[in-house]
Amino acid sequence: MPVHDYKTSDVIAGNIPKGADLVESLAKICSERGVTAGLISLIGSVSEAAISYYHQDVKSYESIEPVKLPMEIVSASGNVSMKDGKPHVHLHAVLSASSGMCVAGHVDSGTKVFACEFSIIKLEGPELSRKRDDDTGLFLWRD
Ligand code: ZN
Repeated sequence: MPVHDYKTSDVIAGNIPKGADLVESLAKICSERGVTAGLISLIGSVSEAAISYYHQDVKSYESIEPVKLPMEIVSASGNVSMKDGKPHVHLHAVLSASSGMCVAGHVDSGTKVFACEFSIIKLEGPELSRKRDDDTGLFLWRD
C-alpha cells in the first residue's frame, strides 16, 4: 500500500477549447508541462459525454448509455499519475442535464468540451505510478 508525502508545486490553470476531448486534452497538458503527479479540478460544460461504471463483480468498466446532449460539469475531480511511462489522467465527474438530472462516473475519452476551466496542482515527491492490481482488476497506485 503506497502512501507517500508530496509537496504542492505549481498550479496550472486554463481553458480547454470547444470541441476538444476532455481527458486527452488534460493528458496532453500534463505531458507538455511535465506533470507526473497531480490533482485536477474543473468545471464547465460538455457537448457530449462518455462515462463509465466499474462493475466490481466482473472487474470491468461498462459505458453508461452514451449521453449525447449538452450538460453542465457540476463537479469534476481527479488525479494525474504515471501509467506505461506517460501521464495518466483519472477523472470523475457529475454532469447535469437541462432538467437538473445528473449522471456521474468515470470520465472516458470521447467526452467533448463545450467550455472548460481547469486547474492542475502539480505534486512533487516520489513517483506515483499505476500497475494492475489482481484483487480489483484496476490499475492502482503501486510502488
Ligand atoms: Zn475512475
